[in-house]
Amino acid sequence: MRCTRCGERNAEYERPYAGDAVCGRCLVELVRDRVFREIRRWRWFRPGQRIVVALSGGKDSSLALRLVTEYVEPLPEVEVIALTVDEGISGFRDACLRAAERVADELDVEHEVVSFEEEYGFALEEVVEDVDVSACTLCGVLRRRLLNRRARELGADVVVTGHNLDDEAQAALMNFVKADLAQLARLHPEVRPEDDLIVPRVKPLRGVPEREVRWVAEELGLPFHADPCPYARFSVRSFFREILDEMEERLPDVKFGLVRALDRAGPVLAEAFLEEGLGRCERCGEPAAGKLCKACELLERLG
Ligand code: SF4
Ligand code: ZN
Repeated sequence: MRCTRCGERNAEYERPYAGDAVCGRCLVELVRDRVFREIRRWRWFRPGQRIVVALSGGKDSSLALRLVTEYVEPLPEVEVIALTVDEGISGFRDACLRAAERVADELDVEHEVVSFEEEYGFALEEVVEDVDVSACTLCGVLRRRLLNRRARELGADVVVTGHNLDDEAQAALMNFVKADLAQLARLHPEVRPEDDLIVPRVKPLRGVPEREVRWVAEELGLPFHADPCPYARFSVRSFFREILDEMEERLPDVKFGLVRALDRAGPVLAEAFLEEGLGRCERCGEPAAGKLCKACELLERLG
């Protein structure tokens, strides 16, 4: 079968939500256009900015780094720094780190690595059994604090993450089901963080289905580590991933629908459920809704 778009090359990649199949070169162009449109739509990048890209070494953040460096190239005085968090998951993170180093090197981007070991004094795998929350909850909270703090120290105007359409749709559905409407509002691209110490986060791949991220990363020959984290399958998120993947077989654009709903509802939800300004954590001084920030609460439970 020929590519629906160019009619010349073989159509290797099916896009059920669009009812077509395209060749590798057209897919790369379509995804690049979609990402650049998203960046322009929300006016994420401007001249003079310092942009920190959270680079895990997986396909998503590697592609995000590649497309962001391409997008900002013509903008004057923009600086891009890649930042990797090493949580301490042996076998998995080491391979990711090598891929992250290679991709940053190939794109000629400054690359920094920070670790749980240095920041908190332990590797994730050493403590994961010692607390009554899932590995991903613990990892996510501690990583967010570390990323935000380091990005702030680096003077970042914005932090880029590699979240794709599937991640966004899962997060939207998950927060909706949990009736966590404040968290749902925070997913919206125009909703500013509630505190000046939180560096705004942007997700240029939020309109790109996960499988297309992988195909495009492969088409572009980007280095990335493909194996999943060993803890991922135990997360609540993986349950929502399965549900949404099943729904997608009957409703091919269900993930786009969820993100579109979020785009419409986000500002209204933010108005109703978010407040400006947070307090400070008594222990670490980072933004906190209560006495302690979420990271310090977990660290306390870990003793
Ligand atoms: Fe951390 Fe969970 Fe992601 Fe693994 S899957 S890196 S434990 S958040
Ligand atoms: Zn704290």
